Amino acid sequence: MLVVLYQNATEEQVNKVIETIEDLGYNAHPNPGASRTVINITGNVDIMDSSRLEGLPGVMKVIHVTKSYRLADIEVNPENTVIEVGDVEIGGRHPIIIAGPCSVESYEQVITAAKAVQECGGSILRGGAFKPRTSPYSFQGLGIEGLKLLAKARNATGLPVISEAVDTDTFPVVESYVDIIQIGARNMQNYSLLKRAGRSPKPVMLKRGMSATLSELLSAAEYIMSEGNSNVMLCERGIRSYSDHSRFTLDLSAIPELRRLTHLPLIVDPSHAAGRRDMVIPLARAGLAVGADGVMIEIHPWPDKALVDGPQSLTLDMFSEFMESLEKRGLMTQSSRYLSNDTTDAKVAPNLAQQDGN
Ligand code: PEP
Ligand code: MN
Repeated sequence: MLVVLYQNATEEQVNKVIETIEDLGYNAHPNPGASRTVINITGNVDIMDSSRLEGLPGVMKVIHVTKSYRLADIEVNPENTVIEVGDVEIGGRHPIIIAGPCSVESYEQVITAAKAVQECGGSILRGGAFKPRTSPYSFQGLGIEGLKLLAKARNATGLPVISEAVDTDTFPVVESYVDIIQIGARNMQNYSLLKRAGRSPKPVMLKRGMSATLSELLSAAEYIMSEGNSNVMLCERGIRSYSDHSRFTLDLSAIPELRRLTHLPLIVDPSHAAGRRDMVIPLARAGLAVGADGVMIEIHPWPDKALVDGPQSLTLDMFSEFMESLEKRGLMTQSSRYLSNDTTDAKVAPNLAQQDGN
């Protein structure tokens, strides 16, 4: 850690900072430069609490060189994490497609969507049962009933399912039904929820808060991992900006930067970023192009009738066209089709082989 002092800091103030560092049990190495003094601190194994230093007179800023996350850090764990959910590998050699309705609304709706996901070669079915809504008067999801419908869709299609846990009270029931637990953007810094997710045997998808920095996202992942759950994937879902042409702004540059910082699998959610279906497919392709391990897309058999996020939900025809276009571009996923012994494997495999060779 480095303590940077103001240009006009007095010798007395510099000495007080050194004294405080030593009092905390660390070593202070003052470096008096031409215009200001910088003090380097050594002797800390873990991340230091800098609050006592920040308040001292003469201190301009304290710079943490040690990161606030360790388990998520690629320097500490250089091997990329691959999360296995049934036959699906997340963070493996092939990108995955997660798709399904924003919210589970009825059996007919979720089963129709699930069959489309399966037939088009998607890997995982999404569907919200407990919905984090901005307004308390909006549809809050079907709750446990929604989880049961999701489980039925899994049984019918064989697709693993992902659904959001919005609080610690309902966490256990969500955990008991799903294959992957989603922590939503609004809950990225809900530390009790993160810790509970850290004690779960199920993988977790952590969505980036709409105003969160990448270091905050990684620190949130660290909360989960430090409780013992290392199966964490991160999801970029758009951040707040001054754009008024989309719901949020998809921060595509987060993907290569996170790739540099962490070994965790990275997913892009173009649906919540765009907020409008015409932008979803180009943004999904862009997410894969910048190196995401997968995309999560909202689809609905009847988007006009959707109770939540209809305008951003792809129709099943649009989704099918999107999936076909991925196949044509050599971005076909490790779909259930590919993993099964189905004879269509032979048609899909050359594309994959071509991609592997690049
Ligand atoms: C969702 O994926 O259902 C969702 C609510 O997304 P977010 O938390 O990113 O808003
Ligand atoms: Mn949604």
